[in-house]
Parts: sequence; structure tokens; C-alpha cells
Amino acid sequence: MEVVKEKARIRRIVQEAFAAGRTVGLVPTMGYFHQGHLELMRRARAECDLVVVSLFVNPTQFGPGEDLEAYPRDFERDRGMAKSVGVDYIFNPEPAEMYPEGFSTQVEVEGLSDILCGAIRPGHFRGVATVVAKLFNIVPAQRAYFGQKDAQQLAVIRRMAADLEFAVKVVAVGTVREQDGLAMSSRNTYLTERDRADALVLSRALRTAAGMIEAGERDAAVVSEAMQGLFDALPSINLEYIAICDTIYLQPLEELHGEVLIAVAARVGKARLIDNMVFEVE
Ligand code: AMP
Repeated sequence: MEVVKEKARIRRIVQEAFAAGRTVGLVPTMGYFHQGHLELMRRARAECDLVVVSLFVNPTQFGPGEDLEAYPRDFERDRGMAKSVGVDYIFNPEPAEMYPEGFSTQVEVEGLSDILCGAIRPGHFRGVATVVAKLFNIVPAQRAYFGQKDAQQLAVIRRMAADLEFAVKVVAVGTVREQDGLAMSSRNTYLTERDRADALVLSRALRTAAGMIEAGERDAAVVSEAMQGLFDALPSINLEYIAICDTIYLQPLEELHGEVLIAVAARVGKARLIDNMVFEVE
């Protein structure tokens, strides 16, 4: 496995692989790997001849006062973990390599970017869409792997890739959880022991919704209210939203049918946590 810092070099490597008839998979990340990241890499390894992981803590997707400086980093540990699952290259650019002087173009996915997490983090999805568009050009892979855990990010990237005619196939990978249900996240490192216990309410609320849907409930308001009740019982948690919506436009649903996304976001101690489940409802 090799670490590449220059965009021109990784592009050349990928273009040569493509010319030799090899399939290339890209896994964009911000590092501080956990089993969720490794699952994306394993999937790419199983499906592609060449696997490139990008590791870049993208400053433009952090708002003022967010955790850019505090964001956890451990490059040596990440390098070992990526190597252990058979990654071929880590693309690890410096910010100036991605945003040289004079950089001034932004990718704005309208409609999807200013709702849910985007309403709470203005500019976040502009930063995400812009850096991912750049990564798709720097690493012209046939397949790119993203986690279902970030459901809105997935919707934004799918829309952006379709609208801008990127030839890459966006592959979604299911959320990897701790044994007790907590969705894995680099930001879980911010949680104290007490927060860690409280944080289980996110997955518990989603499992409650799953149980209600299983039992035949189809009224979104009823499901939402039951979920809300679990958060109300934990005043230390600051619930940001419970959303019951479609998976493509992220528009609220009153009645559950088809592919339904139920997503939650909450502040627990110093961490802002998100989680979701997707249901195929008859
Ligand atoms: P990040 O480094 O947090 O930007 O995440 C990089 C990629 O890993 C994104 O596509 C995330 O959606 C994905 N990811 C993060 N956490 C998980 C998880 N628990 N399960 C599956 N994928 C995840």
C-alpha cells in the first residue's frame, strides 16, 4: 500500500489502471477509521481491481465554531487499518493541494442541501458536494463507496453525480453498529461514559420505529411521536430532528409507503450524532 499526496500522481495511477482494463473503487473518508470505514473498503476490495481510499479532513464542510481543529486524527493507525483490508493507495492531500490559491468554484445541490442536517449546518453539504466532485475528477473511479449512515450525504452525492453526469456508480454500504446498537462514528470519541449510554437512544428510537412498522403502523406522525417520547425521557440530550421522508428528495411523508427513510440527529454532550434506518414498506 502506498500513500500519495499529489493529485496529479493519483490521477495518473488511476488512469493507467483504467487503460489496462482494471476497475477502480474510491472510498472517500476523513480518517480516524472504525469498522464502518473498513466495511466500505472491504466492499470496494471485493468488487474492484484497484482500491483508492481518500483521507482528507475537508475544511470547507465544517462551519465556523464546528469541530475542524478537534476532529480526531491518527494517520499511522489509519494507514495500518487500511493496509489490513487490502487497500492499494491512500490519497492524503494537504488542504493547499485541494484548494490552491484562487479556488472559487462551489457545487450546490439545491433543495437537498438546506434541509435536515443542512438547516443546522449551513454550507456543510456545499463543502461535501464540492470536495466529492473534485475527488471524482482526481480519482476517476468506476465505483465510489459511501455509508448509509450519512443518508443525506448519500442523497446529495447521488443527485450531484447524476446531475453533473459523473460516470461513477455510487454504492451505498449499510450502517455498521457497535454491539449495543450505537452507529459507529469517528465523533463517538467525543462521548463520555455517561454520554455513551445516553447516545443509545438514537438507535433505540429507530428500533422502536422498526417495530411499529413491522406491527403495521403506517401513520408517520404516530411513529414520530413514539420516537419523540424516548428523547423526552432523556433531558440531557438535545434532539435536533426526527425525519420520516423519502430517500431521494428527503421530503416528509405522512403515510409510510415505498422506500422510507427515518433519520434522527441529536447533540449528546460534545458530539453531534446522526443515525437512520431505511424501510421497504408495502
Ligand atoms: P467520514 O470519515 O466520517 O466522512 O466517513 C467516510 C465514509 O464512511 C462515509 O461514506 C460515511 O457514510 C461512511 N461511514 C461512517 N460511519 C459509518 C458506519 N457506521 N457504517 C457505515 N459507513 C459509515
